[in-house]
Amino acid sequence: PQIKAPPVIRQLDDAAINRIAAGEVLERPASAVKELVENSIDAGAARIEIDIADGGKTLIRVTDDGCGIAPDDLPMALSRHATSKIDGSDLLNITSFGFRGEALPSLGAVGRLTITSRAAGEEAAMISVAGGSAAPVRPAALSGGTVITLRDMFYATPARLKFLRTDRAESQAIGDVVKRLAMAEPFVTFILRDTSNGDQRTTFRADAETGDLFDALHGRLRTILGRDFADNALRLDTQREGFHLTGYAALPTYSRGAAVAQFLFVNGRPVRDKMLLGALRAAYMDVLSRDRHPVAALFVDCDPTLVDVNVHPAKSEVRFRDPGTVRGLIVSGLRHALAEAGHRASTTVAD
Ligand code: ADP
Ligand code: MG
Repeated sequence: PQIKAPPVIRQLDDAAINRIAAGEVLERPASAVKELVENSIDAGAARIEIDIADGGKTLIRVTDDGCGIAPDDLPMALSRHATSKIDGSDLLNITSFGFRGEALPSLGAVGRLTITSRAAGEEAAMISVAGGSAAPVRPAALSGGTVITLRDMFYATPARLKFLRTDRAESQAIGDVVKRLAMAEPFVTFILRDTSNGDQRTTFRADAETGDLFDALHGRLRTILGRDFADNALRLDTQREGFHLTGYAALPTYSRGAAVAQFLFVNGRPVRDKMLLGALRAAYMDVLSRDRHPVAALFVDCDPTLVDVNVHPAKSEVRFRDPGTVRGLIVSGLRHALAEAGHRASTTVAD
């Protein structure tokens, strides 16, 4: 039999590597918004403005008043696995949103990306990258903070472009991301402008007077979920074996016909986690009929070593060391709050 010569093994170039990685981190425009806004939060911004056009497909611009990036660091910000947030020695102790150093190089691989930034004591500078190749750093005009513009997302990866949904659906997904991050950061002001949708503007303003986290969160939930939620929400503040549960959950009388208003956060990070959703459901089991769904924003906080956020590139999934304790904390914390409000587990609530 003829033996074929093996194919040569080659190292892929950076542009190809970034495009492959981008496929994991960046599913749709909303993923770009998530990465950029999380970077602004990590930079300590108090005010974050997000402008989008055509569902984010043609334009995403995030402007913040955070710490900025020094001109010399701009090329590094675009380099893969380069981050200012961890030094790699302690992956068990992550307190920032970012740590993989993947978002900016990935965005630069799938769209036309421009970063303009000014750090304290530095001149403003900018860098651009399109389809993976970066231009040199240039001087720019900016009084402070960072402006990151992504145009024509996925123009360099037409296969992904084809899978995007309507502008309306993509806008909605972006709105959802901003909403969740705005709940996670009630002391930060968020402004979302949809320039292609009659210049629609959503503002979540941080109240400068409020220093109390519960007050700030309650105010923010009132803006996002409405007055009825705020008026029917029970405050949660309970702990067990190193896990702390806080947030607000609505009385069973204020429920919804679909599980669309359940917001979960682990160490400040919005997550979609089956175990946590199941615990929320279980807590209301005896007070809600099967076709009704609780409305809640639950925050679970613990020592970073008790939870692994490094499960998924988009970091929307987490793994707890001890899921049973967390489930128990949520079920008993919610049941206790409901019982105190007069909705005993045995009460049947008319729909
Ligand atoms: P990561 O967030 O995982 O560190 P990114 O690719 O998202 O990776 O960003 C790379 C680096 O660029 C960050 O570590 C940070 O130093 C810098 N950076 C990105 N966005 C901002 C911003 N809005 N303000 C200040 N620095 C930023
Ligand atoms: Mg990041």
